Amino acid sequence: MYEIKSSSLLRSVMKDYFTGLGLAPKVAWCTSVGPAELLRSFGFEIYFPENHGALLGATRQAGEFIPATINLGYAGDICSYLTGDIGAYLNKKTPLTQHYGLAGIPKPDLIVYNTNQCREVQDWFNFYAKEFNCPIIGIFPPRHIEEITDAEIKDVSAQFKAMIPACEKSSGQKFDIDKFRKTIKLSREATDLWKKVLATAKASPAPIGFFDSSIHMGPIVVLRGTEIAKEYYRILLNELELNVSAKIGIVKEENTRIYWDGMPIWGKLRSLSDLFVQNNSSVVASTYCNSWIFDSFDPEDPFDSSAKAYTEIFINRSENAKMKLLKQMADDFRVDGMIFHDAKTCFNNSNARFGLPLRFYKKYNIPVMVIEGDLCDLRFYSEGQSITKIETFIEQLESLKVTNE
Ligand code: SF4
Repeated sequence: MYEIKSSSLLRSVMKDYFTGLGLAPKVAWCTSVGPAELLRSFGFEIYFPENHGALLGATRQAGEFIPATINLGYAGDICSYLTGDIGAYLNKKTPLTQHYGLAGIPKPDLIVYNTNQCREVQDWFNFYAKEFNCPIIGIFPPRHIEEITDAEIKDVSAQFKAMIPACEKSSGQKFDIDKFRKTIKLSREATDLWKKVLATAKASPAPIGFFDSSIHMGPIVVLRGTEIAKEYYRILLNELELNVSAKIGIVKEENTRIYWDGMPIWGKLRSLSDLFVQNNSSVVASTYCNSWIFDSFDPEDPFDSSAKAYTEIFINRSENAKMKLLKQMADDFRVDGMIFHDAKTCFNNSNARFGLPLRFYKKYNIPVMVIEGDLCDLRFYSEGQSITKIETFIEQLESLKVTNE
């Protein structure tokens, strides 16, 4: 069975990260595509509640905790990262204890959110600001942009700059532009390597696919702006490039290549990965894993470039811009079809709700399929139905390829 050997190093990198959080003198909480580099330049260790939500999903514990959040008055169909995470907090439980020996989630000295992805993070993080009586900062960029304008960059950049006094107060450190430049430089280098890692899947057979990338993206999410993330992706890239040369990949006979749009179904990553392998299909690229490629980071212009990088993310683009980006990905990765995951508790990161897949198919003649599920709440996922749908879709793609040959 194909295995990525760097996975053992990944486990140790992630273990060190979580253990370090437990020991850190100052911790900032941040949204996953928030201004992590600026926070890191003040010496904060950074904790990402969404990463914790994903952990709750992957360990299938979210379902146990969601009811506690619903009891507090939150709806059961809002973001299951939020409901799972707050529920775990209310139950005083976390997988960080079992997996990394932490007594609990790290207490925040500063909480920062960015609504570039959704407004849910505002509600979620404000809950904790009240619980911990902690200072909180919100960044509010323009939403659903076609192309970002200079005025919009300046607006977000000014909001980043306005964070400085609160960061100085919470961290006890003065702002140092050179430290900020350095973290941006490290983030840029790590994200460039991550981009190359994902690009290895342009080869056939692909040496890494969506399901493995969802795990290997850990450092680019939680350790941006560090040497550790950069070094990890250097090693992973080296392994994958060797596999490409040796023509070793996820499947031996790659009959079909598929693109995955939307969130992972964290509790079903492994079984879904196996399902595609059994059907000689590789899920070679995804919107989700690509969302941590930040081409705009520039250490010479740290504020404006990070404002741009964090505002032009895929989730924050207009349908027109998304269609173009998806088509580009479909061409670059030579995909035969696209699967759109309609995550029932996250319409923000689901592009199937307003008819985009059908419009995409009609415009580009690339077959599409919508699968219903969720990031963490498995009540919204029907395994039997999904397997049948996926296998039927793969069969259709195979027969289309034969017809077109
Ligand atoms: S983008 Fe979706 S999954 Fe992520 S925090 Fe917002 S609502 Fe939750």
